[in-house]
Amino acid sequence: MSAFDDLYAANARFATTFANSELTGRAARGLAVVTCMDSRIDPLGLLGLKAGDAKILRNAGARVTDDVLRTLVLAVYLLGVERVLVMPHTDCGMTKVTDSDVHALTQERGVDTRSLEFHTVPDQHEALRHDLTRIRTTPFLPEGTPVAGAIYDVHTGRLTPAPF
Ligand SMILES: [Zn+2]
Repeated sequence: MSAFDDLYAANARFATTFANSELTGRAARGLAVVTCMDSRIDPLGLLGLKAGDAKILRNAGARVTDDVLRTLVLAVYLLGVERVLVMPHTDCGMTKVTDSDVHALTQERGVDTRSLEFHTVPDQHEALRHDLTRIRTTPFLPEGTPVAGAIYDVHTGRLTPAPF
């Protein structure tokens, strides 16, 4: 028995009817989505996408970190991505704590996380604006690559495009 047996069993059932084996690693809809790790978000479902359509990059808070930029460069030049949507969401845990709060929480468990930057989000619009600018101004992506931001409402399922 392992902590993962439920998943292996589910996969065994999944594989019996698997039919996506003709797909390539290129994003069929030319899209990359940067979103949060929040378990309420179904990025493919809420955007009308299916497996094979898009690159989905997830982290805490949908932040555009160095690693997200690195991945976007690979997605664009190697894997068919031509547009990027950054999609944070309402009720995000990252908007409810500061980096100092997280350090204090881990400290209570005897762990020092001060060498980690958590990219917590004191102001969601400001963070989104910052992250969009980061993608739009990177010298590593083709000039004119469409980049948009939109906030997903985890309670209504609605996406609200950012006005910037
Ligand atoms: Zn979140």
